[in-house]
Amino acid sequence: MSIDKKKLFVISGSSGVGKGTVIKSLLSRHDDIKLSISYTTRIPRPGEKEGINYFYVTKTQFTKGVDNGEFLEWAEFSGNYYGTKKSFVIDSLEKGEHVLLEIDTQGALQIKKQMPDAVLIFIAPPSYDELVSRLRGRHTESEEAIQKRLKFVEFEKNNSKHFDYIIVNDTVENAVSQIENIIG
Ligand code: 5GP
Repeated sequence: MSIDKKKLFVISGSSGVGKGTVIKSLLSRHDDIKLSISYTTRIPRPGEKEGINYFYVTKTQFTKGVDNGEFLEWAEFSGNYYGTKKSFVIDSLEKGEHVLLEIDTQGALQIKKQMPDAVLIFIAPPSYDELVSRLRGRHTESEEAIQKRLKFVEFEKNNSKHFDYIIVNDTVENAVSQIENIIG
């Protein structure tokens, strides 16, 4: 599958890096960018809404979607499944719209394989040491949970080597304007 122009943008980033805020700010300034709403098997967090944050489905429904080839990519993250609906992305690209996916690095690399023109952007923290000490500083989690998160930070950092751009989230304004430069 190939698209003519660079119109599909994928943003990933380690948890705790503030990518949600960056994306929210970006979308508020560009109503021509369509955000793909993912499907997930995780339980909604307080305040999250069906169809706004995610489409919430059961594991059975998700697996059926996978079997029917409905997902462009999907991945397991922290014990839950997350996936991007193929029809939304393809329809939007065919209409000539910019599409933005906010997905993990495993999903991003799957997209790049299928659609080499997709632009992969990784949002990194100003300092990994600080991110690690922030994760460690939360005394609410067990050592095991912390180790799991730290490993994942390392995994995502490694995957980011295959991304087209790595942006440092020092300030939201800076990160947004760097993404705007990429989108053009
Ligand atoms: P959260 O549970 O915090 O909303 O998301 C957990 C992780 O799943 C984040 O890294 C987020 O970017 C990723 N994610 C959200 N939707 C998708 C998706 O459709 N596909 C993949 N591969 N990852 C996703």
